[in-house]
Parts: sequence; structure tokens; C-alpha cells
Amino acid sequence: MTGSIEGLERFDSPGKGRGLRVTRPFKVGELLFSSQAYSYVLSVKERGYYCEFCFTRKEGLARCGKCKKALYCNAKCQKGDWAMHKLECSAMTAFGENWYPSEISRLVARILAKKKTQKGRCVSEKILLIEEMQSHVEDVDNEKREMNEADVAGLHRYFSKHLELPGHKDLLTLFSQVACNGFTIEDDELSHIGTAVYPDVALINHSCLPSVIVTYDGTSADVRAVKDMKPGDEVLISYIDVLYPTDDRNNRLRESYYFTCECKECKSKSKDKAKLKVRKRSDPIEPEVINNMVRYAKKTIREFRALKYTKTPSELLEMCEQSLEEMGAVFDDSNVYMLHMMYQAMGVCLYMQDTVGAIRYGENIIKPYSKLYPAYSLNVSSMYLKLGRLYMGLEKHSAGISALKKAMAIMEVAHGKDHFYLTELRKEILKK
Ligand SMILES: [Zn+2]
Ligand SMILES: [Zn+2]
Ligand SMILES: [Zn+2]
Repeated sequence: MTGSIEGLERFDSPGKGRGLRVTRPFKVGELLFSSQAYSYVLSVKERGYYCEFCFTRKEGLARCGKCKKALYCNAKCQKGDWAMHKLECSAMTAFGENWYPSEISRLVARILAKKKTQKGRCVSEKILLIEEMQSHVEDVDNEKREMNEADVAGLHRYFSKHLELPGHKDLLTLFSQVACNGFTIEDDELSHIGTAVYPDVALINHSCLPSVIVTYDGTSADVRAVKDMKPGDEVLISYIDVLYPTDDRNNRLRESYYFTCECKECKSKSKDKAKLKVRKRSDPIEPEVINNMVRYAKKTIREFRALKYTKTPSELLEMCEQSLEEMGAVFDDSNVYMLHMMYQAMGVCLYMQDTVGAIRYGENIIKPYSKLYPAYSLNVSSMYLKLGRLYMGLEKHSAGISALKKAMAIMEVAHGKDHFYLTELRKEILKK
């Protein structure tokens, strides 16, 4: 650990390399530790809503006088951010509309700037941890290598004026490290706000049955127990969305993190049948028909992801509805591939401000979600939040309050009772 944290220790986890375990009991909802980001960056699309330095979301933030793009709570936050913001401030003005580095390039630039300021001082353990992070450069496939090369090129194009850049090979290693160990900072509805590196949290290994959940408070990460833990238990988070069946989860883990999970759920596959539930018919559906439909579902999910930013919202919605109709002949409404497309459709409706449409999809999603996800899941709480807020917007107060309270019960464990999101939520419930 970076310094020692009471109740926790690093250890060699069998088959997984370094890991983290508890040395005293922790109860559900208890905070194991908070971690300051080593480095972080606000998403360009969230610019204007959040303070670039402390990630506070509020009205009336003040603009950087030079670029007029970055916003801050006050002069103190602006001053605090300058060492990082200066990497972008004048470049944004110089490049104008042609300034579009990837988020990972922006984060890597900040890591390099930070490393430089820390050189000469006694070597911080955090830097050691960054250097210790797994990179898996040798495992990277061609598609990812091309992406990394593009990110390196972006770093040269947008940041070389303010940074001395290391050699090509070192940069590729750094990009791979950040891709494997970076964290997406998300808000209470799971919208992506930014990306950060937390070396302490990166020590935690994966399980599809996690014992802890990571939430964000400004730019720092909180790690809380979602299961009662006893001394010696390994601290485990989920690196991926655990909604999907075992084969899908492990494909994802191998693609992004280069390992196969051997947790209890991956061995027993106990939830796979419910996740892939098939429609009940008097004449049972042939296994071949089911397999073909699974292939069709996966192809549709890939296509939708690829076309998400090029098609119009109504074209996307039609894609969702068509695939739901096709799959619905074989799959039950609670099948995860159905849920996946309903979730996408709900997103499109929200984007188009079609409240009634969004509620219709959300209502179909929430029940199976509560069954298929673990007891305390941010995917479930964020769905209750979205639904609750949509109901409240339509003046359906009793449905709204009931959904918001369900979200609150999960968030009190995941975020802690005193988190800003819960204070806000209590106000929303009282306001009606
Ligand atoms: Zn601030
Ligand atoms: Zn600026
Ligand atoms: Zn697993």
C-alpha cells in the first residue's frame, strides 16, 4: 500500500499476483479506505458542468480567463489545477476546433507532467506503484496496438510543446498500463465524468462476486464493503459489468485485462440459465435456434456500439425495437440480451427527452436487473434513480418516491450515508 492503511495489507494472491486483503472484520457498508487520484482528467463533454479541479458539480462556476473553456469553483481551485491545465490551456486556443486528443492521451500527459514535478524529491511510493502496474504490452492485439499508436501520436500532436516525452516504447507501455489500471469516474446515474488513476485501488483483484464497490467523491475513490468480511478475506471488485453470462464475462476479461476469472460464479455458472432465459412455449425451442439467436444478439450489440455515434436517434431506436422483436420470439423479456437492447433504447429515449418511452423501457428492465445483479449494485441503484426522477418529472410522486427510496437503500451502502448524492436525494424526496 502507499503507506499502510489500518485493517488492510498487500499479499500474494494465489494465481493472481499481488492483491489486497483485510486484517480485521468489515461490515456491509463500511469504508475500507479512500484513495486520492494520482492523476485524473474531466471528460471534454462534461466541461462546463463540473469544476475541473475538484469535480464539484454546480451552477455559477467561473471560467479560466485565458481559454474560456475550463471552469472552476473559485480562484483556489483554478490555482490548484494550473499545473495540469496549463498543458491544455493555450493549446486549446491555438488548435481551436482541431483540438481533440483522446481522454487517455490527456490523462497520460498529466501523469507525465506529474512524474516530472516529483523527480528529485524523495521517490514517492505512488510513482513506484505506477511503475509496478501491469502493462501486458506483449499481449496487446493489433487492433489495440493501432489504438495505442494513435494515442501516442495524439500526445505528440497536442502536448509535446509543454512536455518532454519519453521514447516510443516507454509511451506504449504507459498507455497499456493506464488502459488496464485506469478507472472511469461516474456520477450517481453512471454517466462517465472522467478518467483517473488510483494506484491503491488498482491493487484490488477482480471477482464476478465482488466483496467491495468503488464510488467517487469528487476526484477521490471510496472503497466500501458490500459483503461482511472477516480477517484474511481478499478484497475483490468487479472490473466488468456482471450482468452477462460466464462466457461473455470471461471474453471481456481476456480482451481487456488478459486473464480468465475463476470465481465461484464462473465455476458454477449458477446464474447463466436465468441470464439466458428462453421464452416458454408448448413446443420447446430447439437448441440450434437458441444458439443462432445468441449469435444474432451479439452481432446486434456490436453493430449498435459501432453505429451509436453515426446514426440518428430515431434510426437507433428502430434498430433496438427491431432486434427486440426478433429476439423476443425466442428469448424471455428478462434475458440479458433483451435487457441490453432495452437499456440502449432507454438511453436513446432519454437523449430525445421522450420521458414516457424511457419509463416504459426502464420499467421492463428494473425487475430482472434486481434479480440478476448482486445485492448492492450501482447498475440497479442508477436504474431506480433514473426511473424515480422520470416519475417525479411527470408528477407521479408516489411511484417516484418509491423508486428513489430503493435507489437510496443501495447507495447508503455503496456511497455511505453522508455522501453528497444522498443529501441531494433526500432533498429530492422531500421536495415533490
Ligand atoms: Zn472546485
Ligand atoms: Zn485555460
Ligand atoms: Zn468470475
